[in-house]
Amino acid sequence: MQGDGGAIARLVEEFRRLPGIGPKSAQRLAFHILNLPKTEAVRLAQAVIDAKEKVRFCSVCCNITEIDPCHLCSDTRRDRSVVCVVEKPSDAALIEKGGNYRGLYHILHGSISPLDGIGPDDIRIRELLARLADKSVNELIVATNPNTNGEATALYIREVVTPLGLRVTRIAQGVPVGSDIEFADNSTLARALEGRREM
Ligand code: ZN
Repeated sequence: MQGDGGAIARLVEEFRRLPGIGPKSAQRLAFHILNLPKTEAVRLAQAVIDAKEKVRFCSVCCNITEIDPCHLCSDTRRDRSVVCVVEKPSDAALIEKGGNYRGLYHILHGSISPLDGIGPDDIRIRELLARLADKSVNELIVATNPNTNGEATALYIREVVTPLGLRVTRIAQGVPVGSDIEFADNSTLARALEGRREM
């Protein structure tokens, strides 16, 4: 990494900051980019810029979207009285793939994790309470991950939502304990949703 004027070192450093990328992978990716035809490298860079400029959060469910409200929230055929709370956009996408769920979603963008200093105000719980205020939602399905943080988040949500008088359910443990929802296949998740219980 010498004599490169800093550009390659900077590229390696940027890759190294990405999740799951160690120093070796960062170097390999940087050299891969260098070997690409210029048009391909520019296309990659432009895709990053476009994603950052065009993608925003849905003002209703907090999912990532290019249109606001997102296509799920603006779909009039969906049951607006049921909201499924998940940690990540990919969790909602997985439930959608299952094909059985017809309600709406709320994306928290994380889970409560006292050890990491992540509290209720750091995830989208305030937005959830705001959208429940008009009483149009009858059931809240809490589909946070069945691990310590996911359970802590579920209990917190039940606590703050109970005074609103709506039904709060938790997905069944069809999802293996301690695992992420994203590792469950579609049919496991469909069963977990179907077997949900009152909290
Ligand atoms: Zn939405």
